[in-house]
Amino acid sequence: MEIIFRGTSDAHGVPRLYCDCTVCTEARKPNAQNRRMRPSLELHIDQMLPIWVDCGPDWYEQMSVSKLKTVSHMLITHAHFDHIGGLPQWHDQCRYVNQPAFLYAASEVLEEIRSRFPWLQTQITFVAIDEGARFGDWNLRVWRVNHGRNGYSYALRFDHAESGYSVVYCPDSFQLSKQEQVLLQHVDQLIIGTSFYYEEAPTETRSLYDVLEIIELVKTWCPKSVILTHLSHDIDIGTPLPGGMAFATMNKSLACCP
Ligand SMILES: [Zn+2]
Ligand SMILES: [Zn+2]
Repeated sequence: MEIIFRGTSDAHGVPRLYCDCTVCTEARKPNAQNRRMRPSLELHIDQMLPIWVDCGPDWYEQMSVSKLKTVSHMLITHAHFDHIGGLPQWHDQCRYVNQPAFLYAASEVLEEIRSRFPWLQTQITFVAIDEGARFGDWNLRVWRVNHGRNGYSYALRFDHAESGYSVVYCPDSFQLSKQEQVLLQHVDQLIIGTSFYYEEAPTETRSLYDVLEIIELVKTWCPKSVILTHLSHDIDIGTPLPGGMAFATMNKSLACCP
């Protein structure tokens, strides 16, 4: 499996239009390392057509960078605007090229998307993946995770059928219960969302772990490798992290080899 990070920011993108902090200032320079779009992944699995994970409002621009003209498989973690805002544009693509298109998500997420964009199903087949799915040689499991004040999201875990190599994508989560942490244990590649380096706001107003909390949590989850994504302008991706951890870089490709 190859994963390309097409979006690595939080809900608002970096730079913020109104902001002159050092990260936003750096993000406006040519070849900036901190310029980032809303969270998305481009997945290439075996011989399958690419799968796009989360379709935020930057989807059009992300597709232009990717050089893909069309996508026919879309996987959605939850129905927040930074993860679904591009679906109407994707629907337009599906309608125009008129090829089969599939939107995969947990059934309650599909229900939310249906109520928000009722016309999508004229062109796109909704596929509920509460019981999992199979893409090429990879088994996918999804589970509901606490997203703090913002409600809930789903995390995705891919396991390679032969080797057992495992990849988790959990972009939006906070204060996970013991049960919600079970599938996060001992994975080969963990990709997890954060927003701030250290978030001072009262716990009841928060919706994502900060970097310092994740550094502590991975000591109990024991993943082989960790990539932090969903990064606000509070985070300069040049900031050092402990061994085995890195910040996601826009448009960087990651080979997940069993
Ligand atoms: Zn988000
Ligand atoms: Zn969210």
